Amino acid sequence: MYNQKTYELGTNRSVIRELAEYGKQRAAIVGPENVFDFSIGNPSIPAPARINDTIREILLDTDSLAIHSYTSATGNLDTRQAIADDLNDRFGTSITPQELTIGCGTSQELVAVFTALSVENSEILTIAPYFPEYQVYVEHAGSKFKVVPADIPGFQINLEALESMLNPNTVAVIINSPNNPSGAVYSAQTLEHLACILTRKAAEYGHPIYIVADEPYRELVYGKPAPFIPTIYRDTIVCYSYSKSLSLPGERIGYIYIPRQATDSEALAAAISGGTRLTGHICAPSLLQQVIARCATLRPDMTAYAQNRKALSEGLRAAGYEMAEPDGAFYLFVKAPGGDAMAFCEKAMAKDVLVVPGDIFGCPGYLRVCYCVSYDTILKALPIFRELNK
Ligand code: PLP
Repeated sequence: MYNQKTYELGTNRSVIRELAEYGKQRAAIVGPENVFDFSIGNPSIPAPARINDTIREILLDTDSLAIHSYTSATGNLDTRQAIADDLNDRFGTSITPQELTIGCGTSQELVAVFTALSVENSEILTIAPYFPEYQVYVEHAGSKFKVVPADIPGFQINLEALESMLNPNTVAVIINSPNNPSGAVYSAQTLEHLACILTRKAAEYGHPIYIVADEPYRELVYGKPAPFIPTIYRDTIVCYSYSKSLSLPGERIGYIYIPRQATDSEALAAAISGGTRLTGHICAPSLLQQVIARCATLRPDMTAYAQNRKALSEGLRAAGYEMAEPDGAFYLFVKAPGGDAMAFCEKAMAKDVLVVPGDIFGCPGYLRVCYCVSYDTILKALPIFRELNK
């Protein structure tokens, strides 16, 4: 006997992981230099050298028991203080450590938050294109998952559609900016407009509608910084991760920020704490918490991603592809030639170029091309992309 739902989740693996597996198999046959895998968002730049230096320092200057013990479920106080200080310096806020819980990356944090927000008949909205795991997490938590259609071609938020989908059962709206897969950064104007709609509707329904801001890409921007959403809308819960910003996806470290000014913040924090228990969370990795306590002010070096973004977007445009200008993350969201993204991906696969159909992000007709790859991969793949668009 086993659980049918988890069986299905275990066997219907994500398209992205399937593609990455296929890439590995092909690499074993034709050689890794002949496979151009643009399918997975695994950072291609190493973690800043200071991260490994700090790990070495901790191993030398801290008692072994203190390095590896359980921490409190909300995380070490000095880690939370270091994060609060850094946020306050950057965003002019007055966040306290008590408003922060250290988590294991946004995947775990989102499950805890959705579980905490789900009540009978509740609905949680997100905006296309969106990270496909949201649906798994929201439905597992017991809410209905609804998708606001994409705002094409700019990939901001289709606010009219969003407003028409709100109803008294709506408890939250998930937003992800900088966005995977579009690379769009929601502007302050878009977010202020969204905040206005949610404030009005929350008053009409007599309960809060929280924004759940999924922010693993916050610092990955190529110009203006992404607005800090809690300064625009007070009922915002932030789920943050160091997976992409410090290239630490295998280490599972991030935080949840529940602002004290949010509606019912104390009860909400308790409910999210209960939600984290249901994810089997005892504490976030202790060593990494100690690293973040010493490295909270570190930022990614965007040089390599910026160079890749320029080479790939210019090369694809020169080959006749169309896309919105990505302001953040490390993805290009490209219009599929011929309009059928699935068909294009298969054609590309036959030439060992792996890209992901927009269909899985709720946005058919587009392709996600990750540029967290080597510069060389981009240069070698561009002639094949040119051929694919003839
Ligand atoms: N949210 C988005 C939009 C992502 O792209 C990813 C990972 O690719 C995640 C969440 C999960 O990240 P984490 O490693 O922090 O769990």
